[in-house]
Order: sequence, then C-alpha cells, then structure tokens
Amino acid sequence: MIEIETKPWQTMVLHAERIYPNECCGAMLGRNLDNKRVVTDAVPLENAYEGARGQRYQLRPEDLLAADKAARTRGLDLIGIFHSHPDCDAYFSNTDLKYSCPWYSFVVLSIQSGKFDHAKSYLPDADQTRADGEELIWQKS
Ligand SMILES: [Zn+2]
Repeated sequence: MIEIETKPWQTMVLHAERIYPNECCGAMLGRNLDNKRVVTDAVPLENAYEGARGQRYQLRPEDLLAADKAARTRGLDLIGIFHSHPDCDAYFSNTDLKYSCPWYSFVVLSIQSGKFDHAKSYLPDADQTRADGEELIWQKS
C-alpha cells in the first residue's frame, strides 16, 4: 500500500496538469514503513525524452540520483516515481515496464483534457515482465 500526503499529492497533480499535453515525471520521497509506504514529498523532474513527450517520459539518471541524495539528507527514502498519461488511462504500459525498477512504486496519473482524472500505483517485478497493482491512497484536501 502506498499513501500520498496532501502536499506531495497536490504537487504531483499540479505538475501533471501543467505539463499536459506532455507526460510529466518526478520522484516521490518518503518513508518505508512495515505495512505501507508514505509519500511526504514530491519532486517534479524534467521529462528528458527527446521524441514525442506526449507519449513517453524519460528520467535523467543524474536527476534521480540527486533526488535520492536530497531524500537521504532529510532522513527520507526515494520510494517511487510518478508520471502522467495525457488523455489516456492510468495503466502500466510495456514501455513503462521496460524502463521500470523493481524496488520503486510507480504511480501513473491519468490527465483527461488537462485535468486530473484518476491514478494507480504499480510494483514492477525484478524481470520487468509484469507489474502488479498496489493499493493507492491520497489525502484529499
Ligand atoms: Zn506510462
């Protein structure tokens, strides 16, 4: 289970709506507890994909590394990656799977006509062959 606090959730939705019709991406920082992950901070990152950014996103490894470092200096962990699907459902695509990492939660936000519609979280396996859904809770303000 992954729970996203109000502030990071607003950051993620705002970033996704602002970057629409392109895909946005970013890092989620927080704490790994026994029975759930809690996101306390979200860091918008640049979609570095050089092709059509409405259909794909790419994170720079150095951006992710910087986010990981920033988390650690504050006693937090990098616990996941978020990205948006403009005018598309929040499913986990084959491309998403191909570029996934098994130790992170992947939250996908569906943005329809520029507005947040729904979101889902996924846990990819180590072989990048499948990603199971994960219960996602966010705090509505
Ligand atoms: Zn995707």
